[in-house]
Amino acid sequence: MTLSGYAGNILKINLSDGDVSKVPTAEYADRFLGGHGIAAKLYWDMVPPQAKAFDAENCLIYASGPVTGFPRFAGFRWKTCGKSIAGDRESFNYCNLGDKWGAFLKFAGYDALAVRGKADKPVSIFINNGTAEIKDASNLRGKLTFDIIDTLKEEYGKDTSILTIGPAGDKLLTYATVYADEGASGSGGLAAVMGSKNLKAIIVAASSNRPQAAHPQRLQKLADEIRDMRPPGDMPSMWEIPGLTREHACYGCGIGCGRQVYSLNGDRHYKSLCQASIFYSWAVMKYTGKTDGAQLLATRLCDGYGIDTAVMHGMIEWINACQEAGLITEKQTGLPLKEIGSPEFIEKLMGMIARREGFGDVLARGTIAAAREIGAEAEKMLHSYIATRSSETKDYDPRLMITTSLLYATEPRRPIQQLHGICSLVMAWLEMGGGKPGEFFTIEDFRKTAEKFWGGAIAADFSTLEGKPLAAKIIQDRAFVKESLVLCDLRWPAMVIPGGTGDSTLESRIYSAITGQETDEKELNKIGERICNLQRAILLRQGWRGRQDDQLLDYYHTVPLEKAEIFWNIDGLVPGKDGEIISKVGTVVDRDDFEKLKDEYYELRGWDVASGLPTEAKLAELGLQDIAGDLKGRGLVK
Ligand code: SF4
Repeated sequence: MTLSGYAGNILKINLSDGDVSKVPTAEYADRFLGGHGIAAKLYWDMVPPQAKAFDAENCLIYASGPVTGFPRFAGFRWKTCGKSIAGDRESFNYCNLGDKWGAFLKFAGYDALAVRGKADKPVSIFINNGTAEIKDASNLRGKLTFDIIDTLKEEYGKDTSILTIGPAGDKLLTYATVYADEGASGSGGLAAVMGSKNLKAIIVAASSNRPQAAHPQRLQKLADEIRDMRPPGDMPSMWEIPGLTREHACYGCGIGCGRQVYSLNGDRHYKSLCQASIFYSWAVMKYTGKTDGAQLLATRLCDGYGIDTAVMHGMIEWINACQEAGLITEKQTGLPLKEIGSPEFIEKLMGMIARREGFGDVLARGTIAAAREIGAEAEKMLHSYIATRSSETKDYDPRLMITTSLLYATEPRRPIQQLHGICSLVMAWLEMGGGKPGEFFTIEDFRKTAEKFWGGAIAADFSTLEGKPLAAKIIQDRAFVKESLVLCDLRWPAMVIPGGTGDSTLESRIYSAITGQETDEKELNKIGERICNLQRAILLRQGWRGRQDDQLLDYYHTVPLEKAEIFWNIDGLVPGKDGEIISKVGTVVDRDDFEKLKDEYYELRGWDVASGLPTEAKLAELGLQDIAGDLKGRGLVK
């Protein structure tokens, strides 16, 4: 059967015995779309719940979506999923990457790749037009990602795309990142799982195959419609460094977001984008009094070693606070602590962490674990720098935007694609962080957008709990769709466009045009709800205790938000009743309020309110009877 929009097969490789097999994508596509959805279902089918992250039974799943390979939609994206050690417990985890690799995999004949087992020496996988071979990669161990890519391109040719891990993945660093061509990197600790499997790289050769859309003309018109929503030059890039960087969109994007690249060392390109490019800026500014591109050295070091910038951000702030308080010394750590902000400091720090040398080995376990090692005073400081149990940095705080509390509480990691579903509207209202509410995106715009994308205008009033559980549910379901199609988080959903509120029907129209499955917004979001419930089932089966584990870090309940604690919203401003501008500085997430939010959220999800477990009836309504059957045998469904 031809499946419009898909390559048609999923590749499975067992590194323990070298077995290579494939299954038809059609077994998964209708119910789970692609990307996150298909990866989660493959994980459910293939990974026993008791498997540890570094066991051979754990699988790494790499999956593109139906939009991957169709240019002009910011949709050449792909997901990596598997069990990782990134948080305070081992858990199913995920990340999202862009540029060529996912599209090349699809062009080579596969919508997804599931790798299980363990090789007994470093290996790579070479995929070329439907074939797959396991190759020796002993020569790659310990090398930086950039060097590995150069080496492999020499060996396999420039017309390839390469996914790899750096020294941090080799050393099983808790927050090691996977890295692919042109600066694509993915967090969630999944590079350590690649390292545990002795899998150094996956090389995919270019192919002339392209997925076919069911309705190419409709798709073309949709691409034109989206292009017209972004007049040229609408958005000055926040990541530009004049004289060094230039705008360069990811392969196949066709929309762009101000993403920057720059060249050093000949042909190599490095990125300047989002949090990854600014995480060391504050320190550089403090040390030198200016930012001049030195912060990009920190980004290059993270990409080269394969380390998560979102963890390094909070960690460096915490190290700085500890040394200022006299809790750590240069002698004890072996770090030039007086030079935080210098190139020497960041080079020394990252090298020690990636190689797990001395104090670097303590930091390699994450900031929370390192604070425990230093002592109670160091632990007390964490609240200023850490947002999650995975030591990820603070940005979209529940004390500021209470809706985010439900997202942080129910996801195994910092759910950045969901958090953006809230903060992007608050930022637009706040003039993209400039602190002048409502000039470009007025409160009327905000309310209209909340009606369309958050389930009601009341969700735009942050003085009340009303409407927040519904908004959280809708934002999550829509994010699971986005992560399964797979669309870029920087452009989707199209909530804010020049002139006001965007179009919430675009994703379903794109999906229908590509696959020929006529699906409206409501039906597509229902699939997102199905994927959300599947992920909940995965978490429950591996030990998440439902309501009991749906928690925030404790400090959100006990430590009032301080002025300037949130870098993009110094005064903690949000819209309140009737559009009044209110400040959340000085507030906490009240425990009773949080429990009330959870009650309503579970009700809206059709889950049991007392336990947070899904109900058999809800899973059946979502077409997940097979999942319900398994959970029932384990006492994990009501
Ligand atoms: S919107 Fe930006 S980050 Fe997203 S795919 Fe396009 S260029 Fe890449």
